[in-house]
Amino acid sequence: MAIRIIPEDQLASWPLDAVSAIRPLLTADLPRLYQQRADRLRRLAADHPFADYLHFVAGVVDAQRRVLQAMPLEAESLPPALDANQPPLAAVRLPRIAYWRRVLRRLVGELRPSASPTVGRVLDALAATDDDSLERQAQALLAGDVAAVGSDRAVFIWTALSLYWAQMAGQIRGQGRADGGQRQCCPVCGSAPVASVIKGSGNVPGLRYLHCSLCESEWHMVRAICSNCEQTDDIVYWSLDEQESAVKAESCGHCDSYLKIVFQDRDALLECVADDLASIMLDARLEEQGFSRSGASPFLFTAG
Ligand SMILES: [Zn+2]
Ligand SMILES: [Zn+2]
Repeated sequence: MAIRIIPEDQLASWPLDAVSAIRPLLTADLPRLYQQRADRLRRLAADHPFADYLHFVAGVVDAQRRVLQAMPLEAESLPPALDANQPPLAAVRLPRIAYWRRVLRRLVGELRPSASPTVGRVLDALAATDDDSLERQAQALLAGDVAAVGSDRAVFIWTALSLYWAQMAGQIRGQGRADGGQRQCCPVCGSAPVASVIKGSGNVPGLRYLHCSLCESEWHMVRAICSNCEQTDDIVYWSLDEQESAVKAESCGHCDSYLKIVFQDRDALLECVADDLASIMLDARLEEQGFSRSGASPFLFTAG
C-alpha cells in the first residue's frame, strides 16, 4: 500500500518525510465540505444544460449535511481494524453497523417531500426495502456491481454509505505516511477517486490530491503522472474551452484512462464532486477519443 495509516502510538517510528513534509492524507471537514459542494452545484447550475440534475444533487448533498447534524456517528464506533495490509476501512471487507441504514432511511425521509414523481417512486421503494436486502445491495454496490442495485437506487445507497464512511475516516486515530508508489485507490477505504484537486491554499498550495468517492479523504500524488498506471510519458490535458480552464481531463496513452483535474489554485470556489459532475461534456469528449474514466462519481452511476 502506498500510503499507510499509522496508529498514533507508532507514529514516532514513522517521521514525516523530512525532505517534503507533505501531508500524504487529508480528511474532510464534512459540514463545510457539504455546504461548499451544494453551493457550488447551485452556482454551476446557472445556464447549464443539466441544471435540473445539478439542483437535484445539491438537494441530496443538503440532506447529507442535515442528517449529519441530526444523527452523527457516535464517537469511537469504528469496527475492529482489518489486517495491516488492507486500508483500515476497506469498503468491501469492513463489517457495517446498522447506523448506515438509519442514515439511508433518514435521507429518504428528508428528500421525499420535495421529490419529483420519478424520484419519489425510487425513494418509496427504498423505504419499503427490508434490512437484509439493503445490506445485499450495499455490498454489491461497494464491490462495483451497480447493475445489481440499479443506478437510480445506487445514488441514495452510496450517499448514505459515504456519510457513514466519511465519519469513520475522521475517527481514525493515526496519520497517513507515504510508503512508495501505487496510489490509484484511497489509502483509507480502497475506493476509486472522483478526480484530482490542485490545492490553492493552506499548507499545500499547488500540490495534487486525489479525492475519494466514498470516504471523502484526499491523498497526495505528484502531478503529471497517470493516477491509474503511474506512467509519465504519454499524458495529455484536455479542456472544452480555453487552455487555462480550471477543470481539465488528464489522459494517459499507456492505459487509455483519464481522470479530471480541478484547479482550486485558479478558482478557490471549485469543488471536486460538483465540478466533475458539471463537466460531464468533457467525459463525452474523452470517451469519443477512446479513453475510459478511471475515477468514480457517486452521482454518475450507470448500470452498464
Ligand atoms: Zn476513501
Ligand atoms: Zn495510465
